[in-house]
Amino acid sequence: MLEIRDVYKSFGKQEILKGVSLKIDKGDVVVILGPSGSGKTTLLRCINFLERSDQGHAVFGNVEVNLRTATKKQVHAIRQKIAFVFQNYNLFNNKTALENVTEGLIIGRKVPKQEAEKIGRTMLDKVGLSDKYHAYPSQLSGGQQQRVGIARALALNPDIILFDEPTSALDPELVGEVLTVMRNIAKEGTTMLVVTHEMSFARDVANTVIFMDGGSIVEQGTPKDIFTNPKEERTQQFLRRVL
Ligand code: ATP
Repeated sequence: MLEIRDVYKSFGKQEILKGVSLKIDKGDVVVILGPSGSGKTTLLRCINFLERSDQGHAVFGNVEVNLRTATKKQVHAIRQKIAFVFQNYNLFNNKTALENVTEGLIIGRKVPKQEAEKIGRTMLDKVGLSDKYHAYPSQLSGGQQQRVGIARALALNPDIILFDEPTSALDPELVGEVLTVMRNIAKEGTTMLVVTHEMSFARDVANTVIFMDGGSIVEQGTPKDIFTNPKEERTQQFLRRVL
């Protein structure tokens, strides 16, 4: 469904992505693990054009785009298919939970307000926030704000959702509620590419686990392959540190 081929990205002289390729099928949950600075976030941002790659291609269904030279129109077309959940939620502070969820539908997709609100309420219900439609971000906990972020992504009915360390800004006691929502939507068949340090999520929910280090994919496989039988020394070292 989504294939990324040979993505390169440098910031100044620092080469952050050194030819990354990966493939995601419909319904897959692919988790990217790796040490800090290995380029995980940069990869997600390149896929969604939040950063421009120096080189690389994305193939979406039967549409191929060059990640370096894609036109505005191509970027727009790809963004219609991909939603992004940010580490720091990226909500509008002056808008309610419902308004945050409907904004992209009304402004970006030109969905009539009433219909957008119906979708918005359904998605907030799905993430367990039926009683928070009219709350502002400042009135919500971090876990609730991130659940609004997930409802906003779901509302767009994307082909795939990219999650960039969705729980790493949260107090430990709030991590569980966000992971539960992510587990539930994975069970429903949502296609997800997730950068996370949550090993239990990777182990229990992913179909494929990718281990990245130094801007490259070192190893990938099923959770069982990676967690119980990692082949590469760098993967073994990383897992010894985090497990
Ligand atoms: P973490 O788990 O700590 O978030 P990561 O694997 O997601 O790490 P990235 O956030 O992709 O790593 O960052 C990789 C490297 O790229 C880091 O050294 C970071 O400082 C650098 N980097 C990222 N974005 C920029 C930018 N806009 N300008 C300059 N350097 C950047």
